[in-house]
Amino acid sequence: DYHIPVSGGIAKEPPMHIVHIAVEMAPIAKVGGLGDVVTSLSRAVQDLNHSVDIILPKYDCLKFNHVKDLHCQRSYSWGGTEIKVWFGKVEGLSVYFLEPQNGMFSAGCIYGCKNDGERFGFFCHAALEFLQQGGFHPDIIHCHDWSSAPVAWLFKDHYMHYGLSKTRVVFTIHNLEFGVNNIGKAMQYSDKATTVSPTYSREISGNPVIASHLHKFHGILNGIDPDIWDPYNDKFIPVPYTSENVVEGKRAAKEALQQRLGLKKADLPLVGIITRLTHQKGIHLIKHAIWRTLERNGQVVLLGSAPDPRIQNDFVNLANHLHSSHHDRARLCLNYDEPLSHLIYAGADFILVPSLFEPCGLTQLTAMRYGSIAVVRKTGGLFDTVFDVDHDKERAEAQGLEPNGFSFDGADPAGVDYALNRAISAWYDGRDWFNSLCKKVMEQDWSWNKPALDYLELYHSARK
Ligand code: ADP
Repeated sequence: DYHIPVSGGIAKEPPMHIVHIAVEMAPIAKVGGLGDVVTSLSRAVQDLNHSVDIILPKYDCLKFNHVKDLHCQRSYSWGGTEIKVWFGKVEGLSVYFLEPQNGMFSAGCIYGCKNDGERFGFFCHAALEFLQQGGFHPDIIHCHDWSSAPVAWLFKDHYMHYGLSKTRVVFTIHNLEFGVNNIGKAMQYSDKATTVSPTYSREISGNPVIASHLHKFHGILNGIDPDIWDPYNDKFIPVPYTSENVVEGKRAAKEALQQRLGLKKADLPLVGIITRLTHQKGIHLIKHAIWRTLERNGQVVLLGSAPDPRIQNDFVNLANHLHSSHHDRARLCLNYDEPLSHLIYAGADFILVPSLFEPCGLTQLTAMRYGSIAVVRKTGGLFDTVFDVDHDKERAEAQGLEPNGFSFDGADPAGVDYALNRAISAWYDGRDWFNSLCKKVMEQDWSWNKPALDYLELYHSARK
């Protein structure tokens, strides 16, 4: 069993100093869930009175308007170049930005350069050098995915015995799909390793790069930041709401969404999809669900973009087709748009997540925070957080929860249909019941309250 027990006493341990070395951070450099987790886990741990710093590359494409008091602190020479160290505050967190003067992070993007591996390897080494030269003595260095995995072995090879001896390295796998070599090596060199849900930890435990390290490997569920995602305090939605006025708040948000996207202003079941468009996310199931929803006289809004131009093109064609055949009931927005994502979370009745695999998934958690009902495939973190109203009562109760959504097993259209048809029928057949479900899911706690304690327990155990 890879669960980690929660110790009620851990919050009372003396403060630790944790440094994240990462290549994404919401909202200034976010591509997917990794960016959300770096920010929200750090905030939760900091709120428990520990000290947290983040080291990030100073990309030219950072959203600088979200960085407070940014200033250049110093510079150091390393790796054949001068590296400027900038400091600023992001969502209340202290962030050090490394800017090598060789232009390595002035590529206009976070990922997508031919030499990403080399760029991030350089960054990891530069970050350790910065900690060493700056006289930092963190208790924990936390690195993430293939991109900052090199921290684990560079630390052991070059820094552990040279000034950073009390530091321990924790490595988190957000997605095993990418960079398995790096991940395998970090699994070997890190003191503790985690992944982002208990079910995903079991799903990948047989993988050769994981299998020999199960003794130090734990599945800890991600949370969402309830202040960053808060329908009562969200400048992108028209009426603030809590579970008390969820019906009114969501109705206003749905109308605003329909208005903004030029959809028919009607009381129809609205299915939202917010996702990177990649194979992992179940593209064929997404397409099928769009057609099924339209057939059931619902509305569909998809917000997503594809890193692969062929997939992007495919969806552009689908969008053109749908926008003429169903112009008042379907809208595909094929870009990245954070403000629009808020309005969809609030205005949709359902958020569909039909992933083929999903390490944790944040969209279903955010959906619930906004009182939207998750319709998901039973995999990874989706399995751990969504409990089917017809089938998972006991499994939910074992977690102290009530059922909160709809789910399916297969990876074929019949699977999606099974969940989506029940969801849409429930909407048509019993609005009172449906509204009470929305209220109920809003009251479930998918924040970091519990998982942050699990991480503290893990950090603590790494130091023993
Ligand atoms: P992954 O990390 O695999 O992309 P997650 O569910 O863990 O999946 O996290 C996805 C995050 O990215 C969520 O916060 C979601 O709201 C956001 N997101 C995905 N696509 C878009 C988009 N096109 N526009 C805005 N936000 C998006």
